[in-house]
Amino acid sequence: MALGSFGMAQSVKGTRDLLGNEMKWFQRIEDTARRIFHRHGYEEIRTPILEEIDVFKRSVGESSDIVNKEMYDFVDKGGRHVVMRPENTAGVVRAMIQHKLLATSDPRLLYYIGPQFRYERMQAGRYRQFWQIGAESFGVATPESEAESLVMLFDFLNELGLKHLKLSINSVGTPESRPAFQAAFRAFFEARQEAFCGDCHRRIAQNPLRVLDCKVPGCQTALEGHPRITDHLDEASRAHHARLKVLLEALGVPYEENPRLVRGLDYYTRTAFEVLSADLGAQSALLGGGRYDGLVSHLDGPPTPAFGWAIGLDRLASLMQQLHGDAPAPRPALLIPLGEAAALEAMALARKWWAEGCAVQVDTRGQGLKKALQTANRLGFARALILGDGEREQGVVAVKDLAAGTQETWPLDQVAQRLSTV
Ligand code: AMP
Repeated sequence: MALGSFGMAQSVKGTRDLLGNEMKWFQRIEDTARRIFHRHGYEEIRTPILEEIDVFKRSVGESSDIVNKEMYDFVDKGGRHVVMRPENTAGVVRAMIQHKLLATSDPRLLYYIGPQFRYERMQAGRYRQFWQIGAESFGVATPESEAESLVMLFDFLNELGLKHLKLSINSVGTPESRPAFQAAFRAFFEARQEAFCGDCHRRIAQNPLRVLDCKVPGCQTALEGHPRITDHLDEASRAHHARLKVLLEALGVPYEENPRLVRGLDYYTRTAFEVLSADLGAQSALLGGGRYDGLVSHLDGPPTPAFGWAIGLDRLASLMQQLHGDAPAPRPALLIPLGEAAALEAMALARKWWAEGCAVQVDTRGQGLKKALQTANRLGFARALILGDGEREQGVVAVKDLAAGTQETWPLDQVAQRLSTV
């Protein structure tokens, strides 16, 4: 039966095709990320989209929304319960352990770029297939390693021309220091418990830290004057936090402290952070990250300190479009041969220019000059290079600047150096 009898096929709900300007921004962002991250010594890793379900149950956690409600999981034909990854840190850690890359205490710096899948409720800017860029640093527990990663992140965001950024930081302490904070916080909660929502009542029993980032306005008001985790840190965590602040100040990375910023899981330790963009409106969080010293051993790897972050590429691309408009990628030049003999010569010339790194396309439709120029204008070419019999005899091309409407003549042997290279 023809597909047409069901109507035209559409992309699956929550997924979309990347094309046009959005695709160009994705490319620009990915190229910038790779260039900056390589300078800092980070290497790319690509892990499979499919992972065994345990990888996420044990890392992201069974009580999280991601694992509870949002996973694309299924049993495959061999009876394995697998998941299309909802995030990439767990897969990277699984790979590091599996390949014994953490067997020595040497630092490992890795980044990833790839699609993630979450069965989310549909809303603006949230997709079921979305992309993340993330960086993970393994093996170093110092505040210096965090400053290094944050400087790389800000170099990347600044290179994209993003301004009005705010780095919020907090320390969530360690599993050892947390009970002291939790006791103080529970006492605070109990004194005003009727002001908190039902979810917070559940959280205070299971995971008190999570009450701090409840989105319900009434809970945020009830939290006024709450005990701060940073006032209940062990000595080493306090020194760590103070040192990170000194480093950020000295390196010119402006930050502010947000005592309500938490990462809810036990294996998160010390630094938690978020980057907000004033240009994003309601969804101002551009990315988040932090230190997760407990995760590698939690997944049965050797105890290994780690720090990382992940940024949503979809949100970043829409921010770039909003701030800078269409992606700057004009088509450079269309070579228009007039007649069969010129067509053959044009292909041979273009091949020579491509080999020299020039960006040029050949009009292969064999249409007349007028139509070819209309095509070049419609498709947004910057220049048309016209090769007719007269030009061939003289060894030149006529070069029309399509924006300005001006025309000049270039000798063939000068074309390569005058075209833009890619
Ligand atoms: P998370 O892994 O939940 O900490 O998210 C990190 C970043 O990924 C967020 O700040 C968003 O920019 C992006 N992100 C998370 N979920 C989605 C989604 N469903 N659609 C688009 N972007 C997302």
